Parts: sequence; C-alpha cells; structure tokens
Amino acid sequence: GLENIARYNKYVNAFVDVADREGVLKQAEEAAQRWENGKPKSPLDGAIIGYKMNFCTTDLRTTCGSNMLDNFKAPYTATAIELLQEAGAITGGKVNMDEFGMGSHNVFTNAGITRNPHSIVGKTVANMEGVEDRSPGGSSGGSAAAVASNMCFAALGSDTGGSVRLPASYCGVVGFKPSYGRISRWGLVAYASSLDTVGTLTKSVDDAKTIYDIISREDPKDSTCLTQRQRGAISKAIQSIDGTAAVDGTHQRKRLSGIRIGIPQEFNIAELSPDTKSLWKQGIAALKEAGADVVPVSIPNTKLAVGAYFTLATAEASSNLQRYDGVRYGHQSTHADEKDALYAHTRSEGFGKEVRRRILLGTYVLTSGSFDNFFLRAQKIRRMIRSDFDKIFARPNAITGYRPSSEADTSKVHALLTPVAVTTAPKLEDCVGDHIDPINAYLDDILTIPASLAGLPAMSVPFGKCAKDGFPVGLQVMSQYGDEEMVFDVARVLE
Ligand code: GLN
Repeated sequence: GLENIARYNKYVNAFVDVADREGVLKQAEEAAQRWENGKPKSPLDGAIIGYKMNFCTTDLRTTCGSNMLDNFKAPYTATAIELLQEAGAITGGKVNMDEFGMGSHNVFTNAGITRNPHSIVGKTVANMEGVEDRSPGGSSGGSAAAVASNMCFAALGSDTGGSVRLPASYCGVVGFKPSYGRISRWGLVAYASSLDTVGTLTKSVDDAKTIYDIISREDPKDSTCLTQRQRGAISKAIQSIDGTAAVDGTHQRKRLSGIRIGIPQEFNIAELSPDTKSLWKQGIAALKEAGADVVPVSIPNTKLAVGAYFTLATAEASSNLQRYDGVRYGHQSTHADEKDALYAHTRSEGFGKEVRRRILLGTYVLTSGSFDNFFLRAQKIRRMIRSDFDKIFARPNAITGYRPSSEADTSKVHALLTPVAVTTAPKLEDCVGDHIDPINAYLDDILTIPASLAGLPAMSVPFGKCAKDGFPVGLQVMSQYGDEEMVFDVARVLE
C-alpha cells in the first residue's frame, strides 16, 4: 500500500493526491481489530482503494485531470465510494486520468503523464537504466498503474469506450466494466452519459466480483441506475431460459461444459500483432480445455462502431461540459469582465487540447446542418450493433426485449472472447506530441467500443505476455446484457 506509493509513484505517477497517512493507518488498525474479532464489515474491510480523479470525494480534490477543476473539492461523495466505505474500504487517494476521460494513454492530464509500471519490474530506483517509458493506457491509466504496482488493493475507474479495459490490458491487471446501469453514476463526473460506466481494476477476477457485489446497487440519485425490480427481472429473464444452468462459481470452477463461446470474426483485424493473435488462440484453447464449445460468430456492424462512438460520445460531451463556464464552479479566468469573454477565456484556459477538439467535434455533429447525417445515423448504427449482439446470444436481453427461441440452439453463444488491444502498451513517445494524428489514436479503442455501445458487461483478463517485448496482453470476455456472472465464470478459466 502506502510503502509502494512512496517507492514507485515518483516514476509511475499514478497517485495524484494521497490520503492522509495517519488517517489511513488508523483505519487500517481498526479494520485489523475487526478481523481479529471475527467481525469484519465485509471481505473488503481494511482494503486500500484508489479512486479515479473523476469520482467525487469531499476530502480530496476531484480534478478530472483538468485545469478547469484543479482546485475543485466536491460537496458530496460518489455513491460507489460511499458503498465501499460502508464496507470498510479505506480511501488511499485519487489517481491520474486523461482529462474528463478523453484519451487512451493518460497523456492528456494536468497532473503529468502516468507511466506503465511494467517498465520498471525488477529495477531499483538507483538503477533505472534502460527503462523505456510506455503507456499505461487510458483514460483510467492511473487506476490500472496503481493496482499493477501494488500501491493499492484495487481501484475504481470509469469506462465509456474502453477506459478500464485498455489500461488493464496494458498494465496486466483485471479490468471490469459491468452492464450499463448496474452501478450508480452519482458522483462520477459525466463524459458521455449514455455510455459512462463505473468499472474496477483489480488483481483477480474474484476481487472484481467482490467489489462489484458491493457497489452494484439501486440508487435513487441516478435515474439510469437499475432499480431492484429491474434487477430482479433481468436475472429472472436470464435464468428462465431452458438448457444450461450457470456454472457454479465455487464448486465447478474452471468447468465450462455446456457453455458456448463465440469468436467474432470482425475482431480479427489486420492490425492485430502476431503475438496478440497467438495469445487469443491460446485463450480459445484454454476455454475448450475447460469444456466450452467454441463457435465463430459475426457482428457485421463492428466496423462502424468507432465512427458511431466518437460521434455520440463527443456530442454528449459537448453538452455535459457546458457546465464549466467559470461562473458556477471550477476555474474562472481573470482576463475578462464581460460575460461572453468570460466564458471564452475560462474555457480556453481551463480545457486541454483534446477536450477542446472533442467539444468542437460534438458541437458540430449536433448542428442542424449535420444532425441527421451524423448524430442520427450514429444512433442508428448503435441500435444495429446492439441487435447484432442480440442475434448471437443464447440468453435474453431484458432491455431490448430480445428472446432466443431456446438456449439450446447451438449456433448461439453465452459469451465472447476477443483481444482488448491490437498491441501491447505503446511507447509513450508514440502517444504524445504534435506528430500524433488524433483520429488515428481513436482507433486504439476499436476492440472495446462495441460492448460500450451495446451496454454489455466486459472484462479484460491478463493472459500471458508478448514474446517480443515481455509486456502483458489482456483478453476480453463479453456476455449478454445483465449476465455479469457469465463473464466472471469464463474469465476465471483464463486467469
Ligand atoms: N479512449 C476513448 C475515448 O477517448 C474511451 C475513453 C473512455 O472510456 N473514457 O473516448
């Protein structure tokens, strides 16, 4: 915990604000006492958790990686954090991120870039020779790097288009994004509200499930968070289907008999590195070995996903980020006195380059001249992708109303297996600077975006290392909306 922050944070730069040491130690002592008495508050009692800078906390800043909110302390605490605190978790501090969640390499931040801790495995501070700075992934790069370097037990991140899964893959930890609506977004600063999810970064699948079980709750403060009744309906729909029973996580672990895994052909893109491809094949073999049937499937509209995502995400962002006007809270420019000039100065000083680019893009696709051509078309593509997924799943989707005729139809699958990223973590020098084409960078999320558009649960599990550079590679497990348990069961076989 705290020792590793002292040891590695200077290089890694995952933690931006660290919680008060005395307070952490005191809470840890109290938790240890409760464990000793056999009365821990939960399995997480005493665990130190890091929170991405876009989760509201009253004691530490919530900067969102932005100059706009550099001095911002929230007046309330995010629901997910409150639930963890009730369960005895200790706040270790707040971790780095791409500004407002926009980015894939944690380079767009006002707190200095985060570095992939894997670069310094086996090195001492005294001997940093030959260290090659690599991307930790983004936008939850701080969360993944903090967990990978053992600075905390686990971290919360947010995943809009892959921001938990990509960093998890690059840093070699487990990254989990539940179905949209499972975890309250109250207190999570909005990027693109219809896509934003709270996600976890952990060292194991079981840890991800432990945290998920605690924070996946109804919350009247977030109208998009599933109610108790909706949750009941979802599990009933999933269980109502005949045929395969869910794998019993405790007794039949690593046994996937009766489970069918789909391999979406469209994810086998030309850009995949040979090492990633070969690990994907090994992952398929491991699932077969555990008793699963593996079938090729097709999600024909995958190639339209990135375009649709960046149209919708920037449109929603341009609307969400209107609130930073220099009047209500956050940065206020001192260079202007009239109202319009105040907005303009405040926003050009407060927002970084990437955020400004996205606001412009989002504003453009919402203008009357391009609304039908871009925004509406992107909405249509999103619906098409959702129905592509429905068509291949053996379990019903309680949100879209899709229902397969029978779970026994062997052409339909329970989960999907794909890579998370096309390569291992890139060198940081290839991720930042004027020579980087921003549009090209958007392609980094090509394998994670489809699940985001469809709202599906998806997890990145570390699965071996690339033979060439020794950096970790993650495989992605996805399943039908609401079927988180299936993701856990399949992912456990891979870890
Ligand atoms: N890299 C993607 C983006 O910049 C995804 C970010 C995210 O999931 N927050 O939009």
